[in-house]
Amino acid sequence: MNKEITKMEELQRYIDALLREKSEIDTAQNSIKRMKADHETASEALAIRDKSLKQLKKLTSILEMKLKELDASVAHISEKLHSAQNEKELNAGTNELAGVNKEKGDVEEEILLNFESISAEEKSLASDKDASVNQNEVDKLKIEELTERIARLEAFIKEKEEKFKTGLLDLSPPVRSRFSKLVQSKDGKALVKIDHGVCLGCNNNVPPHEVSQVNAGVVTTCTNCGKYLYSGS
Ligand SMILES: [Zn+2]
Repeated sequence: MNKEITKMEELQRYIDALLREKSEIDTAQNSIKRMKADHETASEALAIRDKSLKQLKKLTSILEMKLKELDASVAHISEKLHSAQNEKELNAGTNELAGVNKEKGDVEEEILLNFESISAEEKSLASDKDASVNQNEVDKLKIEELTERIARLEAFIKEKEEKFKTGLLDLSPPVRSRFSKLVQSKDGKALVKIDHGVCLGCNNNVPPHEVSQVNAGVVTTCTNCGKYLYSGS
């Protein structure tokens, strides 16, 4: 095979590997980003629950103070009832007492319900916080591994870029210029195979005389996509 085509094959392999490594880096970086975002979301959710729990505790202690006041009212009204002068005062006192006792009952019930909620949420929150800490530990290790992997891949890429740069000098100037432009295309392909007369760069048929040229080792480009061709058979 033509020496220049052999060189192009080598250079194309560097580019192919380099693009694979770059895409691996992207995947790793996205995983890291996702883990960090998940961590952020989980922390925010826990903080909101912490805040709600605090509010519920505060509300409950206000209710407990109210309960004390109501207890004092009950004692006060009961005392008044003992010294009632007539039926009217007795009835009024009894009614007042019933009203305050009703309110007391409601407040007591609310306090009990709050205690239950507080205790359940405290348990659930503690277990969710533990789970979150564990998840963070696991993710931290994963992120460390991925970061190391990214650094290794970056070193590989740099190495290949160097080899590519050096290898490019072995191509003749016109081929070198065109080849280095072509590898900057989206798929990074400057050299593509002809498979059964079809250019694998653009999937178009290559005219037979060009196929013959390629087979004979002549440096040829596809008339459709402009990429350099090599014979696959
Ligand atoms: Zn083509």
